[in-house]
Amino acid sequence: MDKNRLKSAYQELFAPSLKKATDLVVDRAEGPYLYGIDGDRYLDFVQGIAVNALGHGHPALVEAALGQIRRLGHVSFNLVTYPQALELAEELKRHAPGGLEAFFLANTGAEAVDGALKLARYVTGRTSIVAFRGSFHGRTMGAASVTSSNVSFRRHYAPFMPQVYFAPYPYCLRCSFGRKPDDCGLECLEYLKQDLNYIIPGEDVSAVLFEPVMGEGGYVVPPGPYVEALGRLARDLGALLIFDEVQTGLGRTGRLFASQHFDVQPDVMCLGKAVGGGFPLAVIASRREIMEKWPPGAHGTTFGGHPVACATGLALLKIVSRPDFLAAVREKGEYFRARLLKFKADYPAVADVRGLGLMNALELAKADGSPDPDLAGRITNRLREKKILLLTCGVKGNVIRFIPPLNVEQRLLDEVIEALAEALAVLTKA
Ligand code: PMP
Repeated sequence: MDKNRLKSAYQELFAPSLKKATDLVVDRAEGPYLYGIDGDRYLDFVQGIAVNALGHGHPALVEAALGQIRRLGHVSFNLVTYPQALELAEELKRHAPGGLEAFFLANTGAEAVDGALKLARYVTGRTSIVAFRGSFHGRTMGAASVTSSNVSFRRHYAPFMPQVYFAPYPYCLRCSFGRKPDDCGLECLEYLKQDLNYIIPGEDVSAVLFEPVMGEGGYVVPPGPYVEALGRLARDLGALLIFDEVQTGLGRTGRLFASQHFDVQPDVMCLGKAVGGGFPLAVIASRREIMEKWPPGAHGTTFGGHPVACATGLALLKIVSRPDFLAAVREKGEYFRARLLKFKADYPAVADVRGLGLMNALELAKADGSPDPDLAGRITNRLREKKILLLTCGVKGNVIRFIPPLNVEQRLLDEVIEALAEALAVLTKA
């Protein structure tokens, strides 16, 4: 296909429902860079939306994938067992928090969330689910039923799965209860507890489904005391505490799993995105005694746990689980956040800088404090003109997120900071 045709064919050939963040047509990618069909090189701080934890085409992962394709491709984990799935599970078990030692392998994040909710309903015999306002869990009907990061993900799809209750997420910058972090009494948790008296009977709750750092909803880091109290609440209710670590898992936050930043043990953890080393793979992890109550035939998949995804994911896990690797992610994250924080001091439009490890964001607001998606869009567009790819998030799209490869060099973090400095100076001028 010639270049002009490649540039124009998308509109004609595809459903418009998939909203494109850019109109870039890419040719190839390597490490931190994407190359467009015109030969332009882009610094990629999106990385397939938090998938390529080691950048594009990491040699160890390419090796693992190629070796596996030659040896054994798809056979279905429903039918047979193969070493790559067992080895991946063993490695996950070695590193997973709190005795999460039994696994179900799926393909996508949404599927992992769907499956985890089915597991919770099956083993508790209860139906209700507590989810959180602003969270994103995926696009299948089950995952969309617990998603509330944008009404466009829900429009015209009702009726959803019934008995889903949305509690306020502890989003401190925009606290619904008018508190600041230093005078916070965890009113948002109290609100949920009150509703358990009025709206949703606690004994009906099968699962409390929580993102330990909210991803699509705005890269929001919850306060530790909230997460720990939520863990106690789920336990008191007899519900399963499900952590959706699809975006936060595999070292993104500077710990292998985001739950490890808090003194809390989820009963179930969902992994996706990075876990397959760039191939579609997702994981539901739980304790053996919980998984044992989910009998043969209760759940299944054709492609889940594909050998190539397992082999590549295993190669990735061996690298990102190393303590020195994770320490470097934390260090680079702190360095990057410290530089972002200077923008907060210099520009009133920068309402917040937040993150953990290399999952960081900058929230933009107007003078009255309301979200400023227009400025976020203009900044990301200006950086794209300078060949830096960034993506926004947040319910209003006013949060710029930074998802570099975890092995990113400091000079590339500096390059992004310098481009942001220029963009903020030009675009926020009165
Ligand atoms: N959960 C979270 C926290 C996510 O960020 C996403 C994807 N952005 C999903 C679930 C859904 O994953 P997928 O697109 O692979 O279905």
